[in-house]
Amino acid sequence: ATPTPPDIVIAQSIKPKHISQIAEAKLGLQPEEYEMHGPTKAKVRLSVLDRLKGTPSGKYVVVAGISPTPLGEGKSTTTVGLCQSLGAYLDRPVLTCIRQPSQGPTFGIKGGAAGGGYSQVIPMEEMNLHLTGDIHAITAANNLLAAAIDARMFHEAAQTDEALFRRLCPADKHGKRAFAPVMLRRLEKLGIAKTDPSELTPTEVSAFARLDLDPQSITWRRVMDVNDRFLRGITVGQGSEERGQERSTGFDIAVASEIMAVLALASDLSDMRERLGRMVVGNDKRGNPVTADDLGVGGALTVLMKDAIMPTLLQTLEGTPVLVHAGPFANIAHGNSSIVADQIGLKLVGKDGYVVTEAGFGSDIGMEKFMNIKCRASGLRPDAAVIVATVRALKMHGGGAPVVAGTPLPHEYLTEDVELVTKGCCNLARHVKNAVAYGVPVVVAINAFASDTEAELAAVKAAALEAGAFDAVVTRHHSLGGAGAVDLSRAVVAACERPSKFKFLYDLDLSIKEKIEAIARSYGAEGVSYSPEAEAQIAKYTRMGFDGLPICMAKTQYSFSHDAKLKGAPSGFVLPIRDVRASVGAGFIYPLVGSMMTMPGLPTRPGYYDIDIDPKSGRVMGLS
Ligand code: ADP
Repeated sequence: ATPTPPDIVIAQSIKPKHISQIAEAKLGLQPEEYEMHGPTKAKVRLSVLDRLKGTPSGKYVVVAGISPTPLGEGKSTTTVGLCQSLGAYLDRPVLTCIRQPSQGPTFGIKGGAAGGGYSQVIPMEEMNLHLTGDIHAITAANNLLAAAIDARMFHEAAQTDEALFRRLCPADKHGKRAFAPVMLRRLEKLGIAKTDPSELTPTEVSAFARLDLDPQSITWRRVMDVNDRFLRGITVGQGSEERGQERSTGFDIAVASEIMAVLALASDLSDMRERLGRMVVGNDKRGNPVTADDLGVGGALTVLMKDAIMPTLLQTLEGTPVLVHAGPFANIAHGNSSIVADQIGLKLVGKDGYVVTEAGFGSDIGMEKFMNIKCRASGLRPDAAVIVATVRALKMHGGGAPVVAGTPLPHEYLTEDVELVTKGCCNLARHVKNAVAYGVPVVVAINAFASDTEAELAAVKAAALEAGAFDAVVTRHHSLGGAGAVDLSRAVVAACERPSKFKFLYDLDLSIKEKIEAIARSYGAEGVSYSPEAEAQIAKYTRMGFDGLPICMAKTQYSFSHDAKLKGAPSGFVLPIRDVRASVGAGFIYPLVGSMMTMPGLPTRPGYYDIDIDPKSGRVMGLS
């Protein structure tokens, strides 16, 4: 067989259809329901949900993988291939919902996330880079809030309560003072039922005007969408004007920010407004949480995000529609594309259609958070789950040699070794069992590579069925496009016809620790240990009343455990919780398991070495 050309060569060989054709002919969108961003991208307005309120929804399919290895499982590729097949070969209305890739990995190690081979989202250079600017909007909003925090502490340090009050509510030319609308939220929180500033008592003036943030408690950090390890820890306030109010803080990657999680979990603009306002940045010196609305910035953040809340419509190589929206990392955030994109998709495809949405990494990471965080927030329930596995990755879980970048693949990955792949199927089996536990039918997609043999593929299929999968099928969409995924799409259609009895992994009314322990058990852990910081944070969040939130574990994706080196299906380990933080606006508590990085670094040879532009044609080269 001829080898499949590089991803970007295939992507650039197909001329995308005008996006209005996809919007109107494929999805039935009306002209006023989408905004063009050039000929290949459009943002979909949320007003479409009002029009389609009474329409029955399509089937909802979530795709995740086994524990990833450097050999790649092809989750995005499979998500896209499945949709190309459902749309172009089974002739079903279909919509793919995927995350927007972060520029960090695109220029760093991983490369883009538009799929690969003959199963891709195009234009891939648009998708992998700025797209329609949502990540930039998140960065802008996040950093506005960061600036608001430091500026407020600066002003509070220099002024009396009365002076702060006078500046916060400046007098007009008649000497009349008024509250900005956002201030009414703070007054309500303080239990002050007054709308005229002149009626405030001196005690109320102090309570209103001085947030009294404890600098040590501030958890809000700045973000940017670059793997810039030298910003992990910084000191702010070193300018001579800031009068020595220095503070240690740092940057995270933009896609790990709470605002990204808010975008992904908001159900509409007013819900996004409430969530952004509720975000807790730290606490005051008495221990009460301080929010973005206390700082007066919740409305401005929402304005910065008003276009970002619209999903971006792209297309696959075979002209099926794709909504790209939100891109929280899966290991340090909740790893799923947006609720609004899925909601819009389910209505647009209608009762005979399918929305296929991708969850980052394995059943322990993106899928667990899909089920327990995203589905809780949206009220949607999946009809089927797909788990993507490859022979090569399972061989590594079975004990195959590590893969070193820039050196040839060890021979076991290129020649038949049924025993090794069978050994590694313990990893697949646990992912299948974990997914089955949610009460949904599970289809295993065995993403075939050219080097796989029939005996190896058969071994994976047998292991998947034994673990409780509804079906397991070999799929060849990377080399053949949708035509190669017909067996997979038939299996998914059949799975969606099965009655599903969805259930969550844990109840929200359990304590924070009980919820963490339920998740840890699904990893195979024997127990959980908590650092003193984690204990203190759990006590604090419980006291503040945030203990009813779901849990978003920040854990390595490479292992069920906290140790990336433990491949296969480890068990009997104790899961160490290093720290516990809260994203109150997004709506989850996130324990940090072991040492998780919230800002990646660049390797010696980053992806950007390959990336360039042909100045004559304007064609982007070297993206993968
Ligand atoms: P994931 O979503 O799991 O990170 P992707 O779908 O982005 O993985 O695929 C990662 C890389 O692997 C892409 O460059 C893609 O072209 C390649 N790939 C995926 N499936 C196959 C396959 N069956 N054969 C060869 N390469 C593949």
